[in-house]
Amino acid sequence: MTGVVYKSTGSWYSVKSETGEFYECRIKGKFRLDGIKSTNPVAVGDHVEFDIETKGDETIGIIRAIADRKNYIVRRSVKLSKQTHIIAANIDQAFLLVTLNNPTTFPAFIDRFLVTAEAYDVPAVLLFNKMDTYSDQDMEEMQYLIAVYRSIGYLCLEITAKDGTGVDQVKDLMRNKVSMFSGHSGVGKSTLINTLEPGLELKTKEISDQHQQGQHTTTFAEMFDLSFDARIIDTPGIRGFGVVEMEKEEVGDYFPEFFKLKSECKFNNCLHLEEPKCAVKAALEAGEIPWSRYRSYLQILEGEDESYRKDIYAE
Ligand code: GDP
Ligand code: ZN
Repeated sequence: MTGVVYKSTGSWYSVKSETGEFYECRIKGKFRLDGIKSTNPVAVGDHVEFDIETKGDETIGIIRAIADRKNYIVRRSVKLSKQTHIIAANIDQAFLLVTLNNPTTFPAFIDRFLVTAEAYDVPAVLLFNKMDTYSDQDMEEMQYLIAVYRSIGYLCLEITAKDGTGVDQVKDLMRNKVSMFSGHSGVGKSTLINTLEPGLELKTKEISDQHQQGQHTTTFAEMFDLSFDARIIDTPGIRGFGVVEMEKEEVGDYFPEFFKLKSECKFNNCLHLEEPKCAVKAALEAGEIPWSRYRSYLQILEGEDESYRKDIYAE
């Protein structure tokens, strides 16, 4: 049989078969996918092949193969000597909720999220929320931000999760896909999920409450079916994506507007710093690349984003 992993607790996996039944599964043998060493060989979102075994009145599934992943997100456990833990796999899109105030989402945070999404190869969508609350001046600032991210090519939607304005667009994007939601605490994730699917919010809240009470030491993601042919992956304890470790040379590749210009830089390994004839610096000085993007780039390059690290891990 084939199915998708909806939940994992480390040794047991809850797998939904193609025909829609859930099976509690275990793993047989050793898996080492993509050459990475991880604490968990199978993750939520994995497509697996499994066999049914019946012992007495107990039926369990035995996972014997995992399909190639189109992408996956990880976290590195400091405690377990930097072992990798795969949080989730095969994510079709990641939404970042952004609010201008209450709480403030700074461009540096948005950029870090987008860079991580690019590095993980997960398409990202920005949801500008609480549109009902902004003053004219806020709105101007918001429209500036939206224009910046649209010009790079990111899909940006304006929504009011609380009253449902714009939420149908989010729904349309979610159909037949696996989505994740991120954003600072208080941006309206629970509100949005509740608007999308009344009743589901409770379930996800229970999980994160359990997590906060310290009943789990590891992060266990879980997938949920929504009524409109959409699925979401909830990752309690992690508000963002985790942190990808990147080489200096690759950071610029995850800023699409920099990457587009890279071939025009004099040096093919240009870091867009002080090198002569740098196309990115030229575009920056011509006002074609916003300074906020370049500042974020420098921060990531210099590893000065410790505050981001602290922020995304709720623990
Ligand atoms: P979460 O921490 O991201 O899950 O945020 P919540 O969904 O708990 O929302 C935090 C607060 O913002 C709550 O008081 C919500 O009622 C409020 N909120 C969420 N979305 C909106 C919105 O679109 N407009 C307004 N005015 N308030 C909102
Ligand atoms: Zn350059």
